[in-house]
Amino acid sequence: MSVPAARAARLAAALAEADLDGLLVTGRLDVRWLTGFTGTNGACLVAGDRRLFLTDFRYLEQAADQVGDGFEIVRAGRDLLGELAAAAPSGRIGFDDTEVTVRAHRRLAEKAGATVELVAVGPLVAGLREVKDASEIERIAAAAELATTAFEEAVVGPGLAGRTERAVAFDLEHAMRRAGAEDVAFPSIVAAGAHGALPHAVPRDVEIAPGELVTVDWGARLDGYCSDCTRTLASGGRPLGERAREIYELVLDAERTALAEVAPGIGCAALDGVARAVIEAAGHGERFGHGLGHGVGLDVHEGPRLGKGADGELAAGNVVTIEPGVYLPGELGVRIEDLAVVADAGPRVLTSFPTDLIQA
Ligand code: ZN
Ligand code: ZN
Repeated sequence: MSVPAARAARLAAALAEADLDGLLVTGRLDVRWLTGFTGTNGACLVAGDRRLFLTDFRYLEQAADQVGDGFEIVRAGRDLLGELAAAAPSGRIGFDDTEVTVRAHRRLAEKAGATVELVAVGPLVAGLREVKDASEIERIAAAAELATTAFEEAVVGPGLAGRTERAVAFDLEHAMRRAGAEDVAFPSIVAAGAHGALPHAVPRDVEIAPGELVTVDWGARLDGYCSDCTRTLASGGRPLGERAREIYELVLDAERTALAEVAPGIGCAALDGVARAVIEAAGHGERFGHGLGHGVGLDVHEGPRLGKGADGELAAGNVVTIEPGVYLPGELGVRIEDLAVVADAGPRVLTSFPTDLIQA
């Protein structure tokens, strides 16, 4: 079965399970996943054998080129959603209420026929996207490899001490683009010393001192797919302090312990608990304030979510980050993040840069 046919078949099974007669697909990445269309203005109706792809005149040529065989391409006017709703057959027609605004929903309801029942089904297609096929995994792997090469070239090679956080981030992003990334997956984080205690630190115009911890969180987007990786390095020129080394080893222990447990069937909350237990046992539980990880694919943050209270369990084909951290305010921060494919034979780690503490 071709990739688009296999995805359409999975969607059809999900619609049957949700007792739906059709689905309006409006999320940009959902549309891309289902049809191959990379433009910004497109939407689909999937109802039994009927598969419509609607876009406006600007994208018709692109759509003819990209949209899979199973879809009939329809030129829509200004009211793309309204036309989508008007094309819906009778019955229960789902829509993603995490994507459709209240205003857009009003328009859908106005244009849908009287025999159409619009049903909010949440991120149904995004749920299917959580399980990647082989072609997606290879794209994510390629993005991760590109990001690793850029990191070696722009961060580790030249060394950290004496450069500003912003310069390191810029050089890293530039190296990713030069290596062929279509974009960065998200704005890079480079955070040295006490600044590293902010999990989402924005790079500053401040020079990195010798002998301090520097957290770098970065990713590339290649062929639509994202990578996500974090390494905490020690800047060169002076030995790293004992406490920083100790916290690093603790986070590394938590990361490796959790990574070893990545397998189909483990609970998303249970896996988070594995890493958390290691950090709690060392008395730093309060300093690991975020979840263990998240899915990565067309979006850099997607399901499944790994964290306290997260629902569900991992399945083969999920691609998830494992990223515990310990943040000591005013002092330092350490986060180590790997990207792994969930598989029966054990996780395949896509982020190949070593996790042992490296001075650069
Ligand atoms: Zn990250
Ligand atoms: Zn992440």
